[in-house]
Amino acid sequence: MYRRLDDLNVSGERVLVRVDFNVPIKDGEVKDDTRIRAALPTLRALLERGATLVLTSHLGRPKGGPDDKYRLGPVARRLGELLGREVRYTPTPGPASTEQQEFVAAAPPGSVTLIENSRFDPREEANDPALARVLASYASLYVDDAFGAAHRAHATTEGVARLLPNAAGYLMDAELSALAKLVERPARPFVVVLGGAKVSDKLGIITRLLDLADTLVVGGAMAYTFVAARGGSVGKSLVEPELYHTARRILDDARERGVHVLLPLDSLCARAIADGAGASVHPSAAIPDDLMGLDIGPAARQEFVAALQGAGTVFWNGPLGVFETPPFDGGTMAVGAALAALPAYTVVGGGDSIAALNAAGLLGRVSHVSTGGGASREYLEGRVLPGVAALDPAAS
Ligand code: ADP
Ligand code: MG
Repeated sequence: MYRRLDDLNVSGERVLVRVDFNVPIKDGEVKDDTRIRAALPTLRALLERGATLVLTSHLGRPKGGPDDKYRLGPVARRLGELLGREVRYTPTPGPASTEQQEFVAAAPPGSVTLIENSRFDPREEANDPALARVLASYASLYVDDAFGAAHRAHATTEGVARLLPNAAGYLMDAELSALAKLVERPARPFVVVLGGAKVSDKLGIITRLLDLADTLVVGGAMAYTFVAARGGSVGKSLVEPELYHTARRILDDARERGVHVLLPLDSLCARAIADGAGASVHPSAAIPDDLMGLDIGPAARQEFVAALQGAGTVFWNGPLGVFETPPFDGGTMAVGAALAALPAYTVVGGGDSIAALNAAGLLGRVSHVSTGGGASREYLEGRVLPGVAALDPAAS
């Protein structure tokens, strides 16, 4: 188990903090500052305790060199507004450039400096020790609060953690503790709701969840791969035929382990996503050839909502239909509302699932919203997160 922020003596120290400020930016403005807000408790605590902060984050996928589109200037401005204090930032060729090193060296005590996008340096993703050494020279301590990047062994996550005394920030700790509750003695029954576009994205997690869950509810496009694998006619629904074999194996495994699997009995179907007005309900295993299943139908909705009642723990990843386009949002919204009303321990992960619940104003009513899609998936698959594994163990 890693050391926690509260067990690190930071007074008068320079602290390098890995944050996940990979936020959407448009016309030089941060479009959604959720991830910046999520790091504020850690940053505020460090400042209150007299630390000088050097922050590092990646943003987007620049091709291994400086790219004005991916500069962190807008993030520094937004962070300054949220913190109510100056955030030092200067555009440089990279996080470890001479300009950046001089700028960091000039940071006054108690200040906050955001260094340039870590991915402007190709050595970040290569986890090059030479880059990690320069980053480590910026501070005497390291705090990792970037849960969303913890599944990557990069210089700002894994590399630098090996070089400086360190601790997990509050966000990192909160995410890991929330997910740990799902895998270590979850309150039963444990219901898992999976949806979204592709089975292939979620194969690892399904396999692992069969060991943990009591009931597996499957909706979204991925349900049709299961329905078709069992011999149903799914029309033009999105399917992954190369996975029929795997889908059948998953259903067999579930039966062997006594996991109850629910596929949607019926579906709301249309010729195309744009044809909401012409939508009709059909059994999911008898969808006419020219139609595709775009949402779960009313019978499935009822059955899915009923499956949630009495649950002790629920994990939801993936919308149950094309929630971006009404009327195909109905199933996701109905099941989302049922989930939000449960007294159970509820965790929602995945960018689109969060967006769907947020649009319905339900996000505040789930126990935990997991912001790091890839990282939470890999954690639940049972994989070791390199960014976490590299942290110092807590003193016992
Ligand atoms: P998350 O981001 O929550 O992990 P995914 O990215 O796996 O979720 O899946 C979300 C996408 O799946 C959405 O864009 C949604 O429109 C799509 N989707 C859900 N159901 C269907 C369906 N029946 N047909 C086509 N696309 C679907
Ligand atoms: Mg998604």
